[in-house]
Amino acid sequence: MARLTQIAVILIAMFFLSGCGPRKEEKQLSEFIEQHIKRLEPLEIQYEQAYWEGATIGNKEAFEQQSELELKIRQLYQNADEYAFLKSLKQSGRIKDDKLARQLDKLYYAYLKNQIEPNLLKAIVELDNKIRNTYNNYRGTIDGQKVTMSEIYTIMTTEKDSHKRELAWRASKEVGNVIFDDLIQLVKLRNQAARNVGFDNYHTLSIVTGEQSIEQLDRIFDELDGLTSEPFAQMKAELDKILADSYGIEVSELRPWHYHDPFFQRSPLVYELNLDDYYAKADVKQIAQRYYAGVGLPANDILARSDLYDREGKYPHAFGQAMDRHGNARILCNLQNTERWVETILHELGHALYSKYHDQNEPYLLREPAHSFTTEAVAMFFGRLSRNSNWMKEMLGLSEQQRNEIDEVSGKYLQFQQILFARWVLVMYNFEKQLYANPEQDLNGLWWELVEKYQLVKRPQGPVDAGWASKLHFATAPCYYHNYMLGELLASQWHHHLVHNIFGLDSDESVSYVGDKRIGKYFRQEVLGPGAVYHWNEMIKRSTGEKLNPKYFVNQFVRHE
Ligand SMILES: [Zn+2]
Repeated sequence: MARLTQIAVILIAMFFLSGCGPRKEEKQLSEFIEQHIKRLEPLEIQYEQAYWEGATIGNKEAFEQQSELELKIRQLYQNADEYAFLKSLKQSGRIKDDKLARQLDKLYYAYLKNQIEPNLLKAIVELDNKIRNTYNNYRGTIDGQKVTMSEIYTIMTTEKDSHKRELAWRASKEVGNVIFDDLIQLVKLRNQAARNVGFDNYHTLSIVTGEQSIEQLDRIFDELDGLTSEPFAQMKAELDKILADSYGIEVSELRPWHYHDPFFQRSPLVYELNLDDYYAKADVKQIAQRYYAGVGLPANDILARSDLYDREGKYPHAFGQAMDRHGNARILCNLQNTERWVETILHELGHALYSKYHDQNEPYLLREPAHSFTTEAVAMFFGRLSRNSNWMKEMLGLSEQQRNEIDEVSGKYLQFQQILFARWVLVMYNFEKQLYANPEQDLNGLWWELVEKYQLVKRPQGPVDAGWASKLHFATAPCYYHNYMLGELLASQWHHHLVHNIFGLDSDESVSYVGDKRIGKYFRQEVLGPGAVYHWNEMIKRSTGEKLNPKYFVNQFVRHE
């Protein structure tokens, strides 16, 4: 027996030393990664710098430099020989080291989605730009008069006359009919690119290169549908009654233009939540700084590098940005003392803290969020606090009575907003999947089938048009929308885990999330530190004990009365 063991040891040693074991491929991959980072890192740093300058100063050179660098980074991933090399490594199954295998996955998918022949890519980019331009410059009309989107929103949120509402709603959709042919052509070109690398269509390619699978998403969204359809029907019936009364019509007469948003994706104003009074005298920056320091995620360095206040020529919205993969992160805001900006600064700092706290001992390529939706989830987790009555009481020193008042409006609003959003994403996800599976089908009819099924909104009488195509995401951010919902689901899953397993409580009733260092410790250890070391679902399983699922989102936002 001893001799057999000896022989086995010698054989194994020979196997490794002979250069045909996993080690050879792993060494090749390590060398490739080293060379790749040498090319990638300087471009990434310059790109982030140009992006920041463009947003804060708004100079033309920075924007030009930004798109130039974007192209250069993209070109890194277009090399067909390097793609073939990575593909053969992946197929060999010989990359056994976990972290090397993760880096190989990242690289392989980045190359895969960029394997588009130059002429086809050119056609796609041109058509994409054409649609963007049309969209930006098009104005819908009411009785022959051009109207802006903000005028349309004003009508949709205030007008009582059904006919005027219908005209405004139709004006908001006109651009869809104008870009319809180009959009279908773009879908077909994208499908062609996907088929060239062995996929059924572009939707499948996007999902797979985003390290997700159709089966997995179908399972999550089917479950979300099952869990929300009943509560949504109840909320919707209640809303319909209020809306019909406000217009002096019957519930059965309600049509898409009677809701306060062209796609019914936002909560109607009848449940509008105004918490601005509570924040009117607060210093928004100071609140965020104090809050994050209190939970053990200090953001002072991030805030010191950030651009926080309104200025002419500056990007008017907000974002969080990693300047490099060494923890240098910052945010851009246009702060005012309102609830929306409290939510925004908490949200953007969430993104920035994710980058700040990546473990610097991990490989360069894995020092990024596990997925774009997981950084969204961190941002949402903290952003949601601006409407949390316990949090507001602690941070603003409110009375118990004020807390109760907030709880009452806030609970109703959040419930409606979140469940409505889930139903809307079900429309988007299912439509986009079928759009790419067969762009020749009756898409206008399909759109209304899904809207009636998930949002319970009746289609207009008569033939339906391509108003759905006015949703710009179909052209400019294809096959991505579902990730916003996954972010919400994950934020709720962490919420549940913290309340029940970390704090050991039975309910979240008294949880304020203020001043508790366990929160920072948990996120740093389980989420921010590991970055992309684990596949996103593995990270979620490690950090909550379960893979991503919609149960906790529904538990958090459906009231059980
Ligand atoms: Zn975000």
